Amino acid sequence: MQAVILAAGLGSRLEDKTKYMPKGFIELNGIAIVEWSVQKLINAGIDKIIIGTGHCSNFYDDLAKKYSVIRTIKNYDYANVGSMATLDICVDLIDDDFLLLESDLIYDKAGLNVLINDRRSNIVLASGATCSGDEVYIEIGKNDLLKNISKKKDELANAGAELVGISKVSLKLLKSMRLFFDKNKKDFPKLDYEKVLASVSTGDCPVFVKKIQYYAWREIDDNNHLEMAKKEILPRIIENESLYSVEREVLLNPGPATTTDSVKYAQICPDICPREKKFGGIMRWICDELSAMVGKKENIKTVLFGGSGTAADEAMISSCIPDDGKLLIVNNGAYGLRLAKIAEVYKINFEIYESSGFLPIDIETLKSKLIDGKFTHIAIVYHETTTGLLNPVPEICRFCREYGIVTIVDAVSAFAAIPIDMDRDCIDFMASTSNKNIQAMAGAAFVFCRKQALENIKNYPMRNYYLNLWSQYLHFEKSKQMRFTPPVQTLYALRQAIIETKIETIEKRYARYSACWKELVKTVDELKLKMLVPLKHQSKMITAVLEPKSPKYNFDDFHDFAQKSGFTIYPGKISQADTFRIANIGDIKVWEMQEFCRILKKYMEEI
Ligand SMILES: *Cc1c(COP(=O)(O)O)cnc(C)c1O
Repeated sequence: MQAVILAAGLGSRLEDKTKYMPKGFIELNGIAIVEWSVQKLINAGIDKIIIGTGHCSNFYDDLAKKYSVIRTIKNYDYANVGSMATLDICVDLIDDDFLLLESDLIYDKAGLNVLINDRRSNIVLASGATCSGDEVYIEIGKNDLLKNISKKKDELANAGAELVGISKVSLKLLKSMRLFFDKNKKDFPKLDYEKVLASVSTGDCPVFVKKIQYYAWREIDDNNHLEMAKKEILPRIIENESLYSVEREVLLNPGPATTTDSVKYAQICPDICPREKKFGGIMRWICDELSAMVGKKENIKTVLFGGSGTAADEAMISSCIPDDGKLLIVNNGAYGLRLAKIAEVYKINFEIYESSGFLPIDIETLKSKLIDGKFTHIAIVYHETTTGLLNPVPEICRFCREYGIVTIVDAVSAFAAIPIDMDRDCIDFMASTSNKNIQAMAGAAFVFCRKQALENIKNYPMRNYYLNLWSQYLHFEKSKQMRFTPPVQTLYALRQAIIETKIETIEKRYARYSACWKELVKTVDELKLKMLVPLKHQSKMITAVLEPKSPKYNFDDFHDFAQKSGFTIYPGKISQADTFRIANIGDIKVWEMQEFCRILKKYMEEI
């Protein structure tokens, strides 16, 4: 679903504050009221927000730079017309049913969910009496039908509810609203959208009223409203919303990573048969958006499976090498070794290239090995999660491209943090999963394929059934369905995580991860602990720290100590050294990492 915010107005009753600024930019608790609204819409899964602007439109254009989901369109005649004229101007950008909101509202996010979750297509949200001094009353008819709207109580047979300023509008209703407006705009250019809503609510396109008696909201039209909003309404909204927050546990293990509450809540959705067209559309959207994160959408095909990241690895290794192919697998950690174990099970013709678990790969030796051994394929882990060592994958793959060697990359713990362009970086196949840097739930695995490389495997032997890459791809292209039951709710969460990743951007996400890592490294240095991998080869996402020599050190004690404060840490199982591992991927804030660093210090000082 989309959203349209009507934000053209002058806000003249707040004159001192809105002379050089739109009403929506009045701040409460340091955030513009329209930005509160935008964040709530995004958290509710809205992936396109259209703002009809007018007065001081540049403010909204700047907001659109911060939130990539926003599109703005200006009503140049804003001083002379009403809100319906602004909605009319937004029409070219609207291509789905939408939530229609006013820009000067603060509200409890529950109102959005109530409208989204209602079967009926056209609904206006209403509340009981607010005594705000600028009420718009609603007359509710039989079966909750919207009968009339007015600011004057005596114009209505009953004034049983107040209009909030949030509605759900179908494309069909929008059409009849525009028809009505076309007929009347000459005589009534200042028509408000709510008047039009009430006028067109009829038999074949009924508009319903959803009333929440004690709903917390306020429209801010004058200074008195603003005072009420600050003193009374906003605290109520914040308190109400805090009741839905999920206990915060920061996962410092290397995946599954910490998720936002909005990603968690995205899993609460209506039951749906995944063979429905609607769900096919959601999967298509997910695949296309994931593709666009690693290259040009038209060159990259994303193939989805139900499974963890290893399923994506297994799909690649079992599907991408012909019987006469020869695969070199780079092994410098547990995940490289896992690729080899998979190749062994499928009796792929392969050799292992061993490299140090904490020192960089010697690229020249690797190159000679590839050429001398006449290898046709290489498989390598982008970010070796066992140690936090980042492998020089683009450099190796560019070399392989020159020699026609197909490149297969496990980017499970690199994707969505390290910026990757499969065309530029010469990667043919690449595996990842929903539960690491994309910050969604476990259960969906995906393989990114360069289109041409994917075409090339179509006649390769089918070594397994469930995980065959070509069959899965073909089936989806033909039917928009996975061959077998997809993890439905996990995919809804993934959809939400993609929206949030696009807003943060992969570059900024990596910058946030890096900032967290810096805090950790600072503390590790202060404690005179040693790290396994030299700084400049670290991924900045996972840090393997050598365990202290103190006989009092015990990982389980350390784990329990950290967990008391809401942090989960992970042991570092590698053969070369005893380590513990701290991952800083997921929805983790720098201040949370600082908090963990204090806990780390406290434990180390105690022992
Ligand atoms: C997490 C991870 C995987 C997948 O592991 P699962 O247990 O299947 O989720 C594969 N490769 C790397 C490099 C990883 O970090």
